[in-house]
Parts: sequence; C-alpha cells; structure tokens
Amino acid sequence: MTTPPGKPEIEVRGLHKAFGANEVLRGIDLEIGQGEVVCVIGPSGSGKSTLLRCVNLLEVPTKGRVFVGGTEITDPDVDIDAVRRRIGMVFQQFNLFPHLSVTENLTLPQRRVLRRDKTEAAKVAAENLRRVGLSEKAIAYPASLSGGQQQRVAIARALAMGPEVMLFDEPTSALDPELVGDVLAVMRMLANEGMTMMVVTHEMTFAREVADRVVFMDGGVIIEDGTPAQVITNPRHDRTRHFLSRLL
Ligand code: ADP
Ligand code: MG
Repeated sequence: MTTPPGKPEIEVRGLHKAFGANEVLRGIDLEIGQGEVVCVIGPSGSGKSTLLRCVNLLEVPTKGRVFVGGTEITDPDVDIDAVRRRIGMVFQQFNLFPHLSVTENLTLPQRRVLRRDKTEAAKVAAENLRRVGLSEKAIAYPASLSGGQQQRVAIARALAMGPEVMLFDEPTSALDPELVGDVLAVMRMLANEGMTMMVVTHEMTFAREVADRVVFMDGGVIIEDGTPAQVITNPRHDRTRHFLSRLL
C-alpha cells in the first residue's frame, strides 16, 4: 500500500477522546503531508501521547476520523493490522525483548507480522542496524547496551518493518543527557531521507532545526500550528509563551 499522490499522509478530523468523564482530546484537526516532520509540544497531560496513540489506533477515538495514507483507520471495517504495518512507533521506554539479541529483536516482528523468511529478515535487520550505527551490536543483548543504543535499536526495529510513517513519543526523555544526541542524530537522518514523522518532544533545538511544523497542544486542543519560527520563536498565544518560557 502506498499513499495516493497529493493526499496527506496523516489526516485527523474532529478527533475527540475521553477516558470516562475525562475528555482528553477535545476536537483535534491536523494534516501531515508526505515527508513532513511535525513536532508536537505541550505540557504534561495535554493529550500528546493520546493523540499519537489515536493515529495508530492504540487508542480508539470517541469521535472523529483519522486517515493514514488515505485509508480511514477509524472505519470499523478497516484491517487495522494492515494499517499498523505502515506506521512505526517509538516510545519513551524502548520495550526491547531482554531475552533476545539485538538482531533477534529486529527479525522477530518481521517474521511474525510480515512473514519474511529467516534470511530476508536477517538481511533487513543488518541494513537497519547499520543505518542507526549499531552494526557491531548485532549479537549483543539489550541489557549490555546504553539507553541511547537501546533506543536506536528500537528505531531500527521499527524501520525494519518498512513503515511509511514514524511516530515518536518522547523518544529521548528517558535518556541520560549525554546519550540524547545520538538518538536525535538518527531521527535527523530519517527526516533528511524524507520520512513522514510525528514527534512528541521537549527537545526545542531539534524541533527548531528539523521540524517543518511545530504543533503546540494544551488542554486537549491545538493552540498553535506553524513553522518553528512562528511557534517557537514568535508564539502568538500566551499559553505557548508561558510553556516555552518554562522549558528554556
Ligand atoms: P501527555 O502525553 O501530553 O502528557 P497524555 O495523552 O498521556 O498526555 O494524557 C492526557 C490525559 O489523559 C491525562 O489526564 C491522563 O491521565 C489521561 N489518560 C491517558 N491515557 C489514559 C488511559 N489509558 N486511561 C485513563 N486516562 C488516561
Ligand atoms: Mg505523553
């Protein structure tokens, strides 16, 4: 499956999500074009993770529609596994299998989900470990790697599935400061290669330098959506200014 030309890669329309009485997303509209990098910023509890999770149906929206690659994923008849194969996700916690080697962490989902044979899966694993600069860790176990290396393995594992879109939820928030740079460098490479990316992050330097657009969320709505220069350098709303002033 590929996205029809001219279609946004991700389209969110009138999205609401409630957990019981707690309305966490209160009407989100967002379009992300093919190859676009969008950073989502905002205070804790503003609904950033929930938004990301609605984009691959880890959460089911209460109301509204979500399209990925032109396919409506909120359509009850959609083959959600087929949609999820188009979307890679990287979390704050890397969630590697501790009892599997780095290579096995990359080959297992390819074999299970994509039904690739052993040789093909191993080849794709090696290619993607090389992309994230970790070829020498192919037979290592996750516990012997630094947090930054583990997160790069998690990125390689997602890439090995051949996604059209990558979603990142605070991928560097659990890392020691000296390990953040290597992970951001891999994400920067992906952006340069034209990957469509949605990145929840507090790394304002990354957002300023890599994002095509920055979206500021607060209280379950999008307050500002614009270029980094607009949203980070010249925010129009007090809430954005207040948030940014506490980060810097
Ligand atoms: P952010 O990522 O911006 O910090 P989240 O999307 O994680 O915000 O959370 C927004 C709100 O939704 C919070 O009040 C949180 O407690 C609530 N929430 C998130 N996930 C769940 C869930 N699975 N069940 C109940 N409440 C949730
Ligand atoms: Mg979050």
